[in-house]
Amino acid sequence: DVLLLANQVEKTYPNGTHALDRVRLKIRRGEFISLLGPSGCGKSTLLKMYAGLESPSAGQIRWWGGSIATVNTPGRTLAMVFQDATLMPWARVEDNVRLPLDLSGVPRADSDVRVGEALALVGLDKFGKSYPRELSGGMQMRASIARALATRPNLLLMDEPFGALDEFTRNKLDADLRRLWAERDITVVFVTHSIYEAVYLSTKVVVMAARPGRVIAEVPIDGPTERD
Ligand code: ADP
Ligand code: ADP
Repeated sequence: DVLLLANQVEKTYPNGTHALDRVRLKIRRGEFISLLGPSGCGKSTLLKMYAGLESPSAGQIRWWGGSIATVNTPGRTLAMVFQDATLMPWARVEDNVRLPLDLSGVPRADSDVRVGEALALVGLDKFGKSYPRELSGGMQMRASIARALATRPNLLLMDEPFGALDEFTRNKLDADLRRLWAERDITVVFVTHSIYEAVYLSTKVVVMAARPGRVIAEVPIDGPTERD
């Protein structure tokens, strides 16, 4: 059940930077994949391609066997969490979480339920009425994860979501994320440069190297993180 397929993907940015070199990668439904590698190896570039935010210079990306046009049809939804929480400061936490639902025309009664569920999942049920500035950094990241989860994504793309947080908060959020993944039918692609985080979270670690960015190893992680 291949959900994401990268076939001989190349990326050269307009300034000539060769960011990705012949990347081939299959991601199956239910996997928790970490993209691990040094700064500049193309982790974000690959993730942005999975999100449809960048296109390959050559090669193809397939989503559920089809083009990007097949994404966000029933059962094939995608959400992305960025390095910063990117919450809108003027809106309450619950309205931040509701925004993508409003944009896709989810009726208010339904979005109320989904927002409540998503906030509960990340432990922020008491903070819906708060403004982002009233929350700690870790809580703001939780809110941005809730915003992604409220859309009930089948595929969750996360670009170093906890990189800016202290180690304690990060470990806590890692544990919560792993539990969340184990409880839901969700495929995660997680960018990190921490080998500890990658091994702890993933069913498979994809190791990348830089100049040019490429995949040098795929390491299945055999352990308690395995779901099936
Ligand atoms: P990583 O996420 O692993 O740090 P990136 O995907 O951000 O790697 O970057 C890969 C390479 O592409 C780096 O050399 C980076 O400087 C370059 N790069 C990233 N984005 C752009 C861009 N918009 N224009 C030009 N070069 C870029
Ligand atoms: P988290 O691990 O959820 O990110 P932090 O370690 O950042 O939490 O914050 C520690 C605790 O402080 C939180 O679990 C939360 O209960 C509390 N806290 C932080 N900010 C606030 C706030 N604005 N109002 C009430 N409690 C808060």
